Amino acid sequence: MIPLVLNAESDAEAPFVTRLASRRSADPRESFCLSSTPTQSLWCGMEGLFTLAHPMDALTGDVVLVDPSARRAERLLRAGSPHNSLLVTEQCDQLCVMCSQPPKKTHRDRFEHFETACRLAEQGSVIGITGGEPTLHMGPLLAMIERLLADRPDLGFHILSNGQHFDAANTARLAGRLRTNIVWGIPLYAADAPLHDHIVGKPGAFERLIASFAHLLVAGARIELRTVMLEDNLDALAGLARFVAHNLPHIEQWSLMGLENIGFARRRWDALHVDLRARFAPVGNALDQASLYGVPVRLFNIPLCHIPPEFRDYAVASISDWKQRFAPACEGCAARANCAGFFEWHPDHLVEKVVPL
Ligand code: SF4
Repeated sequence: MIPLVLNAESDAEAPFVTRLASRRSADPRESFCLSSTPTQSLWCGMEGLFTLAHPMDALTGDVVLVDPSARRAERLLRAGSPHNSLLVTEQCDQLCVMCSQPPKKTHRDRFEHFETACRLAEQGSVIGITGGEPTLHMGPLLAMIERLLADRPDLGFHILSNGQHFDAANTARLAGRLRTNIVWGIPLYAADAPLHDHIVGKPGAFERLIASFAHLLVAGARIELRTVMLEDNLDALAGLARFVAHNLPHIEQWSLMGLENIGFARRRWDALHVDLRARFAPVGNALDQASLYGVPVRLFNIPLCHIPPEFRDYAVASISDWKQRFAPACEGCAARANCAGFFEWHPDHLVEKVVPL
């Protein structure tokens, strides 16, 4: 697994963001490397000297947030990675049965650091925004992105949201500069309100979500609909496909996603996880229904050898590099380059049962 948090030592008085460069540059926002060993590198920048418990080669070009008092550094934006995301809050007003990032009550506002980091992002970067629920802090979030796009119109943002906080007051703002540069990743788990509300742990969530979709439609916002496949909703997926076709034809993509064995899902794994090698038929039916109605649908987080051959074209090699793993037997697989593989925390006994293609 690629480490996203590193041990760090710095005498700076406060946390700071900097981009790591291999040599001295004229940009005061960059720090340059003075020395490096296989386990540690020494850097120099506007905030003085600091060390990171990682070699220079693996870090050059990264944008890091160094927190001297916590003696750690976060790799906010890794150079060359398409999987960078910023966790803006751990608060959430839903309690999904399979939540991979169980919510916390407190919020630490780090928008200032995130904005600095985004200004240092590589040209044309698409930066993920995650939580918790980012739109609980809608004002600061949108304001940050508006300021960034004023100076960096090349940047794009993919924001994961539970879709509970869009209203008429947001519409004009979302229809403006933000419209083209943000894709909202919003979950919908069933076409049936009680089932959706059960999965997200919030009565009335489905109704509020549908209202939000109407506001987003008026704004012309770009939407990726996301559905984690669970025991609870597996047999409801075909109905959801028809619901999406008839009610949400404006979405850019419907992503059917495999479950992550982390957070709440870890202790509920046996009740929630679907082994698609044995039970792909409901998913295949949903894919067929979606395609029949012209819904752009994709399969995320599922290894190719778990998918029947006729459905493999729907699969996306979606798992982020830092949390992706493969079985030893995958080395000999002809499909490895296009395969999602597994999450780092996927149960070993399932990872070992691969069938190289
Ligand atoms: S054998 Fe490995 S690389 Fe090949 S399809 Fe299965 S999981 Fe993917």
